Amino acid sequence: FVEICNVKKAFGNYSAIKGIDLEVRDGEFLVLLGPSGCGKSTLMRMIAGIETVTSGAIKIDGKDVTHLTPRERNVAMVFQTYALYPHLTVRANIEFPLRKMKLGREQIRERTLWAARMFRIERHLDRKPKQLSGGERQRVALARAIVRSPSVFMMDEPLSNLDAKLRATARQEIQQFQAETKATTVYVTHDQVEAMSLGHRIAVLSDGVVRQVGTPDEIYHRPADTFVATFVGSPA
Ligand code: ATP
Ligand code: MG
Repeated sequence: FVEICNVKKAFGNYSAIKGIDLEVRDGEFLVLLGPSGCGKSTLMRMIAGIETVTSGAIKIDGKDVTHLTPRERNVAMVFQTYALYPHLTVRANIEFPLRKMKLGREQIRERTLWAARMFRIERHLDRKPKQLSGGERQRVALARAIVRSPSVFMMDEPLSNLDAKLRATARQEIQQFQAETKATTVYVTHDQVEAMSLGHRIAVLSDGVVRQVGTPDEIYHRPADTFVATFVGSPA
């Protein structure tokens, strides 16, 4: 589980995150939902450890990780633009996070195959990223993220480069993976439909603050304020 304790982030004198308290429970699929510029990516990057916090603390499984590197936190993150290594094969891309772990050849093979099967790309292991479709590349990025069995699996708008049909398929695969593995998951989106269909709970952000945290049902039927109501399209 992840605890975000009064976390703030300033860029110069611009306050992007204004004091957020939020918990991601064990095995939970939490969605960060909010309009462009509200601070979703910044918050996620601070959990991942690729952005420093200005003040406050981040804890994972009860341990303060505020000043640890991303690797030390055992978190994995998938970006909107997949960020695959173009010169490496799919197999080498997926294996990459395992390199620094003390695993035998056979264990590496097994884990890589497990991750590739999870997102149905085992047929493409010997190809290079540029020989894959957008949807396949996205699944390689997802497989690479889960291969270490991270404590926290984070995705920042991972489907926004896909067409509507692929997006629906990929959404189901992510949901299925999470249901099977009970991985603690944080998923960023500005799409309320996606948030409603994926999230066990949704945290609605605006302007660097959390407006409401609740189940999709609570958010939709009992919005905390007019901002939330308007953003998720609650019935009047
Ligand atoms: P989107 O949905 O468009 O991805 P977001 O909710 O992820 O938006 P962030 O990327 O977290 O938004 O940005 C939050 C605010 O902080 C924005 O106003 C942005 O301009 C600002 N910001 C983000 N990174 C930096 C930076 N490195 N330097 C200065 N300002 C930044
Ligand atoms: Mg963003």
